[in-house]
Amino acid sequence: MKKGITWLVTLWGIATSALGQRPMEALYITGHTDRYHSWETMAGYQLALLEECGLFRVKTLVLPRTVTGKAVDFAAYDVVILNVNDVQWPDDWKRDFERYMSRGGGLVIVHEADNAFPEWVAFNEMIGLGGWGNRNEEAGPYLYWTEQGWVTDHKTKGSAGKHGERVPFVINVRMPEHPIVKGMPAQWLHVNDELYGDLRGPARHMEVIATALSEEQSGGTGKEEPVLCTIRYGKGRIFHCVLGHTMPGHYDALKNRGYQLVFQRGTEWAATGRVTQKLPKEAALSATEPSLREVEPKGWADE
Ligand code: ZN
Repeated sequence: MKKGITWLVTLWGIATSALGQRPMEALYITGHTDRYHSWETMAGYQLALLEECGLFRVKTLVLPRTVTGKAVDFAAYDVVILNVNDVQWPDDWKRDFERYMSRGGGLVIVHEADNAFPEWVAFNEMIGLGGWGNRNEEAGPYLYWTEQGWVTDHKTKGSAGKHGERVPFVINVRMPEHPIVKGMPAQWLHVNDELYGDLRGPARHMEVIATALSEEQSGGTGKEEPVLCTIRYGKGRIFHCVLGHTMPGHYDALKNRGYQLVFQRGTEWAATGRVTQKLPKEAALSATEPSLREVEPKGWADE
């Protein structure tokens, strides 16, 4: 993929969804990330997972690091999936995106996409919590879960974003009735991933669906950190999943069955506020054994 161009391509089309409804229109935006990750690998696997749902007609927009030109017609889409970091958007793109979201748009943010746009106030409102990019106490509080309930720490100063070694950790569901996780087990094991911790942000209009303990002995924060969140921005819905580390040729985190399910279900929820997808029996999520599945990537997977 030659960089520095803007290219809109329909990867596939479906006439009707599995339910006989019109397909949801999804815009997948990618094209650049930071040097620690691979947007190509992430895109290949996320696009394959979206196709597998049979619910979305997906257009992929590959953007250069510094975007120029006329803004996309965001309003034509039910949901936007952002797989970018370390990118610059012009003010009119930001304004149009804010309008799209406040009027009821959908947004999906996965892993390092929550490092993007540290200076964009509305974007930080949309993602609730973010990391790195020189974020500090001015970005908002730290948020973590304890046996006594949620702690919103406005007092402690310091940077945003930290992760330890890629040790296995258990996902703890805190909102079992939320459509994204309804029917899934209360806990499941997740492996081969970075667990983000010490994120900071406005954390307003936000619900945390699931947390995970970032173990201090493996370099983590020692706190039960938010891993699956939803945020309201005006009438818009955002699904924020901190899971899903990739590097060129490294996509082991994306093999986690739990990750695959919440990405598919969270994208539908961001688009409509509902989840119609059935939970597959073979997913077999468990708190003690990882449930992994290979997915054939689409597009740019660069392994
Ligand atoms: Zn990462």
